[in-house]
Amino acid sequence: MTDDINTYDVKCRTCRASFKVQLFDSHEKNLFVADKKDWHCEKCKKEYFKKQTSELSKVHKEIGFQELEGTEKMISWAEKIRSELINKVNYLKESLTFKDDNAKAMSNKAFEKFFTQWHTKTEAKWWIDNRRMTVRDISNQIAKILETIKA
Ligand SMILES: [Zn+2]
Repeated sequence: MTDDINTYDVKCRTCRASFKVQLFDSHEKNLFVADKKDWHCEKCKKEYFKKQTSELSKVHKEIGFQELEGTEKMISWAEKIRSELINKVNYLKESLTFKDDNAKAMSNKAFEKFFTQWHTKTEAKWWIDNRRMTVRDISNQIAKILETIKA
């Protein structure tokens, strides 16, 4: 037998090109999945990620971040991580409460300083290496910056 029994013909939702996928459930279930799922060929998938990456990098540029350096694959991944980490910082910033305006101003300054440090991280690898940074990690770093501002 030359044909792989697990191989099914599907159509790309974006460009309508036919391509083959391997599915490993029962034949009946596989036929259903092959028919119902939104399939996207490798080329369209790549295009999609490229578009997503360039959109993220545009958004990041608007808030002071530079373009990332590295391989296309690394940049694509790093851009996503960067977006998630920025969200964590903003989440932290919004969750804080202050006893007075002065405390709030100091905190804002610390956040500004923190972001300024991140603006200089233009290597995709740095973001990938730091992808597991938590809100708590960020909070600790902000606290340290706050100490130096107060000193
Ligand atoms: Zn396609």
